[in-house]
Amino acid sequence: MKFTPARPSIHGETLESLAARFAAAGEPAYRARQVLGWIYHRRAASWDEMTNLPKALRGWLAEHFDLDASALVLNRQSEDVTDKLLLELRDRSLIETVIIRAPQDGVGLDHSRKTICISTQVGCAMGCVFCASGLAGLKRDLSAGEIVHQLMQVCRREDARTPRARAELASFDNVVVMGMGEPLHNYDNLLRALTIVNAEWGLGFGARRITISTSGLAPKIRRLAHEPIGFRLAVSLHGATNEVRDRIMPVNKRWPLEELLPAVKAFAAAHGRMVTLEFILIESVNDGLEQAARLAEIAADVHAHVNLIPYNTVAGLPWRRPALARQQKFARQLEERGVSVTLRREKGHDIDAACGQLRLRTEKEREKAAPA
Ligand code: SF4
Repeated sequence: MKFTPARPSIHGETLESLAARFAAAGEPAYRARQVLGWIYHRRAASWDEMTNLPKALRGWLAEHFDLDASALVLNRQSEDVTDKLLLELRDRSLIETVIIRAPQDGVGLDHSRKTICISTQVGCAMGCVFCASGLAGLKRDLSAGEIVHQLMQVCRREDARTPRARAELASFDNVVVMGMGEPLHNYDNLLRALTIVNAEWGLGFGARRITISTSGLAPKIRRLAHEPIGFRLAVSLHGATNEVRDRIMPVNKRWPLEELLPAVKAFAAAHGRMVTLEFILIESVNDGLEQAARLAEIAADVHAHVNLIPYNTVAGLPWRRPALARQQKFARQLEERGVSVTLRREKGHDIDAACGQLRLRTEKEREKAAPA
């Protein structure tokens, strides 16, 4: 389903596209840079704040563009260091954006390193059997503006907590495109959004600090390898053989490992840096030592770091997290084979941390509350 808002989000405009809109309206092109400066550099929250623009032009902007593609409806803070933002879009769809804080010695949580996990679709079409986001299928793609606006919500929130002391524009340190949706399934909007985030007239955020995570759309990985901006790549492997991946990730039937892994290698070769293999450990599904051995071979072959993620239980789904000892044994098997590996510490387990859970629960509550 496609959603066409009454006014497009200003956060989906590039310098060029906005200058073209101004030119068509008889305004000088330099106004585009002024407007984007107000939005990204000065964090204007209303058109009226843009005081060096003529009043009539501010009125024209308000008539033609949306300054708030999303509204914050819920902020769930976990006992550890994860902050989950539930955002409502103009069509009342819900998406999740997560702030993951990495505490550092000697500084408070407000000054910790922040990784932001953003969504690219409402729901997801990929149908991974362990995932809450894919349970109800794909509702729609997010627009470029809706993707960028998630980061502006974070900036707004973080600026209020800690006034920006550093010279950089973004109030965070890393972005992972790993939330709801398959990012490469919404390729054009994603690339436009990340171009805006990266541009000096946008958030000026370095491409090397942006990681795009895919469930394995091999042709799109090859396309991404040739983009002029060098983003990082993470692949959600979750199974080291076709047998296991077929069982839990339908995408593997379309692009099995024989097609996926050469595409990942091509990406790594084009960018000359390590990719990441994400591997959610699920009890009795992929946590056996034969999977660890095969995963080690794959990681060596594609020159990848492995990120092991203990499964977060999803209400209504039968999958379980392996015991800690088993997780550690799996990680050790990789280390002993010379693989660079991280066993992720739990984050956000107490706030419906698994991707899509908070949204799912809120939608169910809404359905219950709606008149029959
Ligand atoms: S794990 Fe990712 S790709 Fe798979 S269904 Fe969930 S959101 Fe989609």
